[in-house]
This record gives sequence, C-alpha cells and structure tokens, in this order.
Amino acid sequence: MPLSDELRDLYQQVILDHSRKPRNYGELPAPCLHAHGDNPSCGDEIDVWVKVDDKGTIEDLKFKGQGCAISQASASMMTQKVKGKTTTQAAAMREDFRRIVMGDGTPANEDALGELMLLEGVQSFPQRVKCAMLAWRAVEQALDGK
Ligand code: ZN
Repeated sequence: MPLSDELRDLYQQVILDHSRKPRNYGELPAPCLHAHGDNPSCGDEIDVWVKVDDKGTIEDLKFKGQGCAISQASASMMTQKVKGKTTTQAAAMREDFRRIVMGDGTPANEDALGELMLLEGVQSFPQRVKCAMLAWRAVEQALDGK
C-alpha cells in the first residue's frame, strides 16, 4: 500500500525520535538475563538485560547498543511493548514483528505491535530486516539462556 508523503514523514519522525532518545536505555543489575547480539553486515550491536519474575512475566528490560537508526529504534520500541508481558506473549509479538518486517504473512495481533507497525516499510529493504530483528533476537537468546 503506497503511503502519502505526510505519513512517511511521520513514520520517519517516530523512528528518529526513538533512535535519538532510546527508551529503557541502560543496564539492569544482576540477577537478570543478558544477551549480546550483533549484525556485522551493518555494524549494529545490542545488549539486552531482562528480568523475568517467577510467573514468567517480563518485569523489566533494558538495552544498550549502537548502530543504525532502524536497529536502535526497533530496540527502543520493543522494550516499551514487551515490558510487562509474559515471555509467551513476547514470543508471539516477535513472530508478528518478524512477519511485518519480512512481508511474510499477516500479524496475528496488529494491535499488540502498535508503533512497531511503523517498521513495516523495512520489508522493501531486505538488508534492513536483520537491523530491525536484532534486539528481538537478543531478547529471545536471553530468555533461552534462562
Ligand atoms: Zn543496521
């Protein structure tokens, strides 16, 4: 679906805002889960710290990283959406997000993704899919290491 220039500008603004002022930026104190992800093809790096309570709810998560605007904005938006969700819900969101950035089917729950739907445009730039997925894969790794 073609976007109007206005919408495109808005999307750009939201993504730039997140990459310049990332939310939930920093480290969590131990004990917590941690993983590092990198995307050598673009030079993006992300570290995530995740704290899960005994009911499987993601109580808190933070990230630090460097790289392109897409990788950092995606990480920032992801932390806002995933915080407070269960690990099962987070996995469902990761799969939905993967679908929109790869243009691979329809997300099961678009509403849950919210602002993350703005990264849908990435599907036209296959090189950028890894950038957009980097933080999500790092969280997956951190949770698997539990
Ligand atoms: Zn990148």
